[in-house]
Amino acid sequence: MRWFKYVAMVLMLCSALNAQQFLPVSEAEKCGFDEVLSEQLLSVLGDHWGYGYDSLLADLPVWDNSPYVSVSSIGNTVQNRPIWQLTITSDNPPTSDRRTVFIHARTHPNEVQAWWVTDEIINLLLSPDPYAAFLRENCVFYVIPMYNPDGVELELPRQNANNIDIESGWDDIPPQPEVAALRTRFAYLMGSPNPIEVALNMHSAIACLRYFVYHHENGTSPIFAQMERQYIEGIRSYFPGGIQPWSYYVSWTGGTPDQYPESWFWRNYQEAVMALTYEDMNCSTAGNYDQTAFAILHGVGDYLGLVQTGIAGDRPVPADADLEVSFPNPLVLGKNSHAIIVYQLDRAQSVRLALFDLLGRRVKTLDEGWREEGEHRIFVNGESLASGRYLYRLETAGGVLSRQLTIVK
Ligand SMILES: [Zn+2]
Repeated sequence: MRWFKYVAMVLMLCSALNAQQFLPVSEAEKCGFDEVLSEQLLSVLGDHWGYGYDSLLADLPVWDNSPYVSVSSIGNTVQNRPIWQLTITSDNPPTSDRRTVFIHARTHPNEVQAWWVTDEIINLLLSPDPYAAFLRENCVFYVIPMYNPDGVELELPRQNANNIDIESGWDDIPPQPEVAALRTRFAYLMGSPNPIEVALNMHSAIACLRYFVYHHENGTSPIFAQMERQYIEGIRSYFPGGIQPWSYYVSWTGGTPDQYPESWFWRNYQEAVMALTYEDMNCSTAGNYDQTAFAILHGVGDYLGLVQTGIAGDRPVPADADLEVSFPNPLVLGKNSHAIIVYQLDRAQSVRLALFDLLGRRVKTLDEGWREEGEHRIFVNGESLASGRYLYRLETAGGVLSRQLTIVK
């Protein structure tokens, strides 16, 4: 009775799947923790693991002196300490479209190394380095250097003043004041014209390795999993050997957990936000914070599809990309509402396709990000554009291609 065996197997499979759906998602502790080792590290590093709230209060006015920084508080902790935030961008408040990156550190007070990486990210962003200037022009970075100052001051390795782990308490009702403050801040930015696209949750791992906590597609989606792999491997390419491959720490294999900030981002915004935990090395041999910061900032820029460009004509024609004439051209509105622009890539890479007027002003970004090898079709809605001639320009790592599009009303 073969069919019987088959039905029995299907029934077993179904019940297994159902059981999986109804089981609470248990998550291994991503940072790891050992009380004895943590005590040892505290004695090696000194009070507050070498960087206390006073240290932060001393640094804030120094950063605030930079023309690229503004300092504000997103709310108060259990013990009424303000949670400080830096806003870093070229003109503050920003006067044009910016890509938004959010970084928060020191959720777990004993994981001070992730703060030192964040500190190097701030140093690099405020530096005269041309890439830093380029990032400041194109992005806004919001940085929370110390998300859990009560825990830091009380020398609680992992908790806030109520003895709650605010990393894994995002599903608590009511939430801890720190969680409520950060969630409110995230939600506000997600509703703004420049929503968060990259959220970095900075931790350090007892495993004494650098890695990202990868979310399996079972808890996200196949598309997001692919985006994660590109993002992590992209950052890693700037620090080969220093950061573990994406597959080192795979989480969310049993579904989407509720307790983390990344859970909140995924449940509300899915692929729109690359929200991942980064783990630095929570051990005495940690270091290379500047190299890690460099890798993270360059990888984030690539993930956002930011391509450093001069004026078209300055740059070579890429050998591995092709840009076709739009169809129809001219676009006669009333007859058609959209034009189609097709471009080809011989290899996967970061690109930006944008529309410019004849004075060279960018009118609209049409497509931007990491794109696969092959043909890409982009629809341009002409109805919101004035009659006239435009240039559309494809920027890739290898150079710039541009063509003309005419719109007739
Ligand atoms: Zn942690």
